[in-house]
Amino acid sequence: MLSKGYPQFEGVPIRFISYNGSHNFYINGAIHTSLYKYYYHLKGNNSTNTRATLLLMHEFGHHLQRVLFGESRYNKEIVPASAYSQLFSSNHDTDLVELHASTMAYYYFGMPQGFEKENQIDRSLLSDELKMMLLYRIGIFNLKK
Ligand SMILES: [Zn+2]
Repeated sequence: MLSKGYPQFEGVPIRFISYNGSHNFYINGAIHTSLYKYYYHLKGNNSTNTRATLLLMHEFGHHLQRVLFGESRYNKEIVPASAYSQLFSSNHDTDLVELHASTMAYYYFGMPQGFEKENQIDRSLLSDELKMMLLYRIGIFNLKK
C-alpha cells in the first residue's frame, strides 16, 4: 500500500486536511481526509475493512462519479450538491448525491461485508448495466492505479 511513496487510496491521491477531523471530501482529483483516518485505514488488514477504509471507499465513490459524469459536470453539479448537503442537510448520508457515491463504491469494491453499516446505499439508483460495469471494472471503470 505504501509502495508508491505518496499517500493514496486505490490510486487516488490523499490530501490531509486535519490530524483528527471528521470531515472528508473529494475534489480536484484527490480525497481530502485526516491523517488519523488514513492511519487507521493502513493499520487494517485486507480481510476485514476497517471503519476508516469503508469511509474512504465512500470518498472514492465521488471519484467514480467524476469518472461517470466527467470533470466539468462533477464540478458543476456534484461538488455543490455534496457541499450543500454537508453544510445544511440533516441527513447528509441519505441525500441523493451521497447515496449515489456510496452505491457506486459498493459495487466497485465488490459489495464488501460491513459496507452498509458505514455507508447507506440505494441499489435502485444504478442501472443493472452500470452495476455490472462497476463490479467487473469494465470500460471507463477499468481504472489504472
Ligand atoms: Zn460524500
